[in-house]
Amino acid sequence: MEKIDIKSKTPQELHQEFVETKLPKYRAGQVFRWLHQGVGSFEEMTDIPKDLRAALAESYEIFQAQPLQKRISRDGTIKYLFQMNDGELVESVLMNYHHGYSICISTQVGCKMNCSFCATGKGGFSRNLLPSEMLAQIQSAQKDAEVRISNVVLMGMGEPLDNYENVLKFLELVSHPQGMNIGMRHISLSTCGIVDKIYHLAEKKLQLTLSVSLHAPNDQIRARTMPVSRRWNVEQLLAACRYYAKTTGRRISFEYAMISGVNDTDECAKELAVRLKGMPAHVNLIPVNDVTGSGYQKSNLQRQKRFISILESGGCTATVRRTLGSDIEASCGQLRGKYEGGNEYES
Ligand code: SAH
Repeated sequence: MEKIDIKSKTPQELHQEFVETKLPKYRAGQVFRWLHQGVGSFEEMTDIPKDLRAALAESYEIFQAQPLQKRISRDGTIKYLFQMNDGELVESVLMNYHHGYSICISTQVGCKMNCSFCATGKGGFSRNLLPSEMLAQIQSAQKDAEVRISNVVLMGMGEPLDNYENVLKFLELVSHPQGMNIGMRHISLSTCGIVDKIYHLAEKKLQLTLSVSLHAPNDQIRARTMPVSRRWNVEQLLAACRYYAKTTGRRISFEYAMISGVNDTDECAKELAVRLKGMPAHVNLIPVNDVTGSGYQKSNLQRQKRFISILESGGCTATVRRTLGSDIEASCGQLRGKYEGGNEYES
């Protein structure tokens, strides 16, 4: 019999579950707190009676993320390769900003979106991650690095809105006062633009930051790098973003990977500023990282500056994202693609 994923349950669900299976229901809250402190086994729940611990271990499984490989950058950024209970591998990146520790976690094993500049897409798609497996990445990194993580970005491997239900459940759990209690204002969700799900998410009125990987001002250029643009065009995507901003009161963050000669011309900047006009938005420019052998090159510093100044004179705020961990291949999907077995974990 397959065991039940206990860490993906809310305290209410756990309570209900204990009632149905005739376990002492008043223990549900206690078990929830242990799970969200990141214990790896029921044995570690020391104030739970031994027979109950044994009964729990019979029916339930605690999903974990075991650090298999770790790279530490000169700037302190740590990239982890984590192994799930079934052996699947995902990556997470722990970053130290002046306001605290942030972690970038994965939401899927692989990705279906296949953006031409992204290493994750090249490896294909394996499966969705469970809410517990998203939590486990944070818990594992906290334990390994002995830090308290205060910010979470769903910007690792996978497309969060293509794993919508599990991601929503994760958000509920990670922000739970009896759990890790990381507030929505400390969470960002990055999407390549799954338009129908942006509307659904808007209705939830969560205070998280929506990051949209735009990477082009129009359909013609976007279609060169992002297959998702064939399903929803830029106009439809921006309409969903406007709706999201209006419904939640939150500013949208647009990601724009600058690729030399592809999307970084003066015309692109002008068109982008016009299209974003009137929307509460911020543009994050990221010099593209050539990880797919596509031959894409970063726009040079002068281009980046010129692009920003055109955006700004068009009424649009923009910054070049500080790149952390560039010496450890911290971009999405790079480490998993290289891993060929063996335990290279070192602390
Ligand atoms: N699927 C989601 C989140 C994962 S990708 C999304 O598309 O937003 C996280 C961010 O990294 C996205 O903005 C993505 O477009 C960007 N990205 C991926 N590969 C990159 C590369 N080689 N250089 C720069 N940005 C990249």
